[in-house]
Amino acid sequence: MSSSVERRRDEAADEPLLSVDGLKTHFPVNSGILGSIEYDPDADGLPFGIDDSNVKAVDGVDFDLYPGETLGVVGESGCGKSTLARTVVGLEEPTDGVIRFDGRDVTEFESEDDQWFRENVQMVFQDPMSSLNPRRKIGKIIADPLEAAGWSAEERESRAVELLEQVGLKGEYYGRYPHEFSGGQRQRINLARALSINPDLVIADEPVSGLDMSVQAQILSLMNDLQAEYGLTYLFITHDLGVVRNMADRVAVMYVGDFVETGPTEQLFTQPHHPYTRSLLEAVPNPDPDATGVIAELEGDVPSPTDPPSGCKFHTRCPAFVLPDGFTEESYAEFADFRDDVATEDVDAVGSPETVVESYFDRELPSDARRAVEDAAEAAARDDYDAALEALSPHQSVCDSVQPELERISGPTHLSACHLPTDDREEFQW
Ligand code: SF4
Repeated sequence: MSSSVERRRDEAADEPLLSVDGLKTHFPVNSGILGSIEYDPDADGLPFGIDDSNVKAVDGVDFDLYPGETLGVVGESGCGKSTLARTVVGLEEPTDGVIRFDGRDVTEFESEDDQWFRENVQMVFQDPMSSLNPRRKIGKIIADPLEAAGWSAEERESRAVELLEQVGLKGEYYGRYPHEFSGGQRQRINLARALSINPDLVIADEPVSGLDMSVQAQILSLMNDLQAEYGLTYLFITHDLGVVRNMADRVAVMYVGDFVETGPTEQLFTQPHHPYTRSLLEAVPNPDPDATGVIAELEGDVPSPTDPPSGCKFHTRCPAFVLPDGFTEESYAEFADFRDDVATEDVDAVGSPETVVESYFDRELPSDARRAVEDAAEAAARDDYDAALEALSPHQSVCDSVQPELERISGPTHLSACHLPTDDREEFQW
């Protein structure tokens, strides 16, 4: 079993329905005409305009999902949530890792297994209109998967009418077209289609985004009812923390391609450990008017997954960044600028080490860090950038130098990837 997201129920002995290990989905930056130009990777440099870097949309995700439960995946736009969903359902090719469904490796499937997988795993998308063919009657749309599975026309129509009624629409709507329905009704139609073939797993990607609050509540309630009736398992992708709190048994918080905190829903909302989780919670209105937040609102943008920050990917926005001894925020910012120039071999190393220090630093440095900067400047002046980096390394923060792994926080299933000690966390209410 993967270690990153463990099961919510201790008592049952079920095997996971879905098990994802080390999943990566990377896309080449050049996917257009330039991306198709072949080049010799052993040659010096790349042809002009060619960038061989990758967008690391999903960058090593592990989780298990057990029958009948809901795992919510939250995070800002651009964190890789939708790519994760699309990769699990087979709409994107994984770059690395293993996806097991019902114990079978999905990435190794031959075509007949593909059909079995497509029948058992269905996806509900954010925009209900774009996933419904406007020129087809909704009854036919709902029955499409049944035709592929060999059902007769009569059986298909009867099942579509039954499903329409189960999602709260009238069976007589069978012959109507998608444009005759509201956004909420269209999402009901999508749910009916997803359920037509009795899947075990439904992957819902922002299924209520863009709907009015009252309609959202109706759709979520319907999804809960359908889950109870059919024993469905949900992988629920959303940026809305209120939605995930209502829907999920467990939550995984995703940031720039990785899970940074996972745990049982209530525990994660009331005792969040990772500063990103706490920032997300703080950035939305608190449902409890008496509750007080503990850190500032989330600032800045999600970094590019093409060139994610070193160490902890959240370090560029983290309000709890761990400063090395003797540094202030300002002096460490200057130190980090100097170190970046050393790393890119772009130090203005003309003159004595003292001159270099003066040109980079307005703030006072801790004395040992200042000596290290002078040593690094000397090394850079003789083009020995490895030695320069080595001189600086003892003074770098753990946050921008070491990528934290998911580790247990409290209880067996609450994990966080952050260097902060667990007892440094203040009370939090949301
Ligand atoms: S590892 Fe450091 S930068 Fe990352 S979230 Fe924790 S405190 Fe913030």
